[in-house]
Amino acid sequence: MTRVALIAHDDEKPEMIDLVTDYRETLESFDLLATGTTGGRIVEETDLELERKQSGPLGGDMTIGAEVVEGRVDGIVFLRDPLTAQPHEPDISALLRICDVHDTPLATTRTAAEYVLEGLARE
Ligand code: PGA
Repeated sequence: MTRVALIAHDDEKPEMIDLVTDYRETLESFDLLATGTTGGRIVEETDLELERKQSGPLGGDMTIGAEVVEGRVDGIVFLRDPLTAQPHEPDISALLRICDVHDTPLATTRTAAEYVLEGLARE
C-alpha cells in the first residue's frame, strides 16, 4: 500500500486540513502517517485514520526520516511555514536531505502536494 506522511507547521495546519478534505478519497486509499499535532488535527477534523508519530519538535520529523531511509515511505507532504524560524530546523533539514538522497517525493506547498498525491494515486 502506498505510504504517505503528512506534516504541517502551525501556520500551515489550516491549509493541510483543507488539502486533506479535498483529497480525502485519494488519501483513504493510502496508508497515512503524520507528525503528532498535524495528525491530531487531521483525525479530529476528518475521520481519516493515520499513524501518529511524535510532534515535530519532539522528533516526529526524524522518525519519518528513518522510515524514508528504510524505504517505507512513498511520498511526503510537508507544508512548511517559510516565514517563521522553527526550533527543530536541523531535523527538518535532515528530512529534506534524506528525501533527496532516496528520491522520495516531498511537496512543501499546496500545489506541489496536489501533484505528488495525484502522481502517487496513479501508481
Ligand atoms: P506537528 O509537527 O505536527 O507535531 O506540529 C510538525 C512539524 O514538524 O513542525
